[in-house]
Amino acid sequence: SSRKKHGTVVTFFEEETNNIMQKEMDTLNQLIYGLKNNEFTAFLQPKVNLLTEEIVGFEALARWNSPVLGFVSPAAFIPIAESSGKIREVDNAILKQVLEWQHKRKVKGLKLFPVSVNISPVHFYHESFVDDFIQLVSQYDISPDLINIEVTENFELVDFEKAKEILLKLKSYGYQSSIDDFGVGFSSLSYLQQLPFSEIKIDRSFVNNMNNEEMYYVVQTIVQLAANLKMHAVAEGIETLDQYNFLKSIGCLIGQGFYFHKPMPLDDVEKLLSSI
Ligand code: C2E
Ligand code: MG
Ligand code: MG
Ligand code: MG
Repeated sequence: SSRKKHGTVVTFFEEETNNIMQKEMDTLNQLIYGLKNNEFTAFLQPKVNLLTEEIVGFEALARWNSPVLGFVSPAAFIPIAESSGKIREVDNAILKQVLEWQHKRKVKGLKLFPVSVNISPVHFYHESFVDDFIQLVSQYDISPDLINIEVTENFELVDFEKAKEILLKLKSYGYQSSIDDFGVGFSSLSYLQQLPFSEIKIDRSFVNNMNNEEMYYVVQTIVQLAANLKMHAVAEGIETLDQYNFLKSIGCLIGQGFYFHKPMPLDDVEKLLSSI
């Protein structure tokens, strides 16, 4: 009977696996359809100057409201978009909306803000990434220094030389770049020092735990590291006044988080900007 029991367990796992695979297939099918159907929307989260609370820029974050699946979080669809290669289209759909928004403000003579877009490592290392990116931006008459490319620290530093080449090329065209989620996939300091990032984004998991003394020192060390490397330090995921005060006390100058603003649709960004 123990064999039978075992058999039941195996069947259960197989069914689970099949269900998961089926669900991913369904999501991928909807995602492919959703890309054609413009279901992906750019939300912007303000980045603020931590001394004045003034908005100094934005991060664009993809939102997907599928008529079939409902709201799907990036944590759920980004991995599926990455493994299928569709992530390039997701990233570009968001980039286009950012560029259109920037262009509209430019035409209206309104103040322009730098916007960060997330580029998946899968996309970043694609052979035509830089050329496609430059080509896309060039269609909008927007200065490259208003676009910042965020790549996560987890991206394959195995391809260090390639990463350096891509970042240097982007920089030569005037684009800024950030290393996202810094501290999580911590690879090598000597690599970081050689990569021409303009900004280090301190991962939310560190910022959230700054009431812990050790974590406080970790964040302080990252802020100093950034200063030594002549990069900006940006704190992610600031949710409380305590976290905000901790960050100010260690000289972190830029941050973003629900304490200030949540990511919001472009209409709300316009309302916010016209109210200040
Ligand atoms: P990320 O680039 O590190 O983005 C920051 C995430 O933290 C966002 O989650 C944002 O909504 C969330 N966040 C901001 N402030 C707070 C806060 O105070 N508290 C909490 N709990 N969360 C906060 P989101 O939008 O769910 O995105 C998750 C991740 O998905 C992003 O992490 C990024 O890696 C990826 N992602 C989002 N949009 C895109 C995109 O257009 N392209 C690519 N390749 N990846 C994207
Ligand atoms: Mg990011
Ligand atoms: Mg991040
Ligand atoms: Mg992330």
